[in-house]
Amino acid sequence: MAKIYESITELVGRTPLLEIKNYEKKHGLQAKILVKLEYYNPNQSVKDRIALAMIENAEKKGLLKPGYTIVETTSGNTGIGLAAIAATKGYRFRVYIQDQVSQERYQVIHAFGGETIKLSEEPAIAKVLEETGGDFVAAIKALREEVLSKEKDIFFVDQVSNPANPAIHEATTGPEIWEDTEGKVDIFVANVGTGGTVSGTGRYLKSKNPGIQIIAIQPGENSLPSEENPEPEEITGVHPFEGIPVERVPQTMDLQIYDEKFEVETIEAYRAAREVAKTDGILIGTSSGAAIHAATQLAKRPENEGKTIVAVLPDTGLRYLSTNLFNEEFLV
Ligand code: PMP
Repeated sequence: MAKIYESITELVGRTPLLEIKNYEKKHGLQAKILVKLEYYNPNQSVKDRIALAMIENAEKKGLLKPGYTIVETTSGNTGIGLAAIAATKGYRFRVYIQDQVSQERYQVIHAFGGETIKLSEEPAIAKVLEETGGDFVAAIKALREEVLSKEKDIFFVDQVSNPANPAIHEATTGPEIWEDTEGKVDIFVANVGTGGTVSGTGRYLKSKNPGIQIIAIQPGENSLPSEENPEPEEITGVHPFEGIPVERVPQTMDLQIYDEKFEVETIEAYRAAREVAKTDGILIGTSSGAAIHAATQLAKRPENEGKTIVAVLPDTGLRYLSTNLFNEEFLV
């Protein structure tokens, strides 16, 4: 029977689970590491899932109609996913970029016909950022109240408070892992940016087996800006959720869902990503490296012998070629 897809929206999700056999062997691991390769999504990241879900949810609720502009603030992958789906569905797309992000990301959003604006280039927001010392929660509030409220025919996606974000992981990522492992999963590892992946997938897996351990990754101390090191190499898209004021934790992060918080330094993430490219031939981004590093440390714990660890790898290493991720002279 012919199998012809009619929209990239049909290509989102159902990503493969791969056991990184050579890497396990090299490290003498007594536990299995299965990685969920989210770069198999049509625009190469886990964020295609939420981009599609948030857009279709808004269409169903009447918040997004033909002729509207879709607006978001993001450091990258969500912008790319939204830009592509906006293109295929015929919406305009505008993204306010929060962080220093790699050049590739701007180029990709522009290729899809999207518009990019740095948060600091919008005067009302620049003022709030300066007054608050870089408080993004306050900046997004100002964007909503002082900029977007004055425009019409706008849909502000807001992935950090949009319930469709964790919900799509509960509806798809979780079930895919459960089905592909036939329920044989003991530990689930995910990064936390908005917290959508860990919260939604974690919720589904715990509903099937409350004994599954959920591990949430946050950046290590040396990988966050500090007085000594104001601009460290950061793990793209990954943010602290413990040790910060609760009002700065995204609403999409369920602080009750995880059993353990695991800290990873950027250099550890780089090493893991570089290594698994050489052992198993997969080219992944920094946060994926962080997930493999965490999974490796968990696999080495004696109590985890014989267990199965599933780690979500959010995106492709191709999106980091202008960074130091695969620059082997850097931080080796
Ligand atoms: N890794 C990358 C590369 C990301 O872009 C993100 C999301 N910003 C994450 C990890 C974290 O995923 P989530 O938002 O679902 O917590």
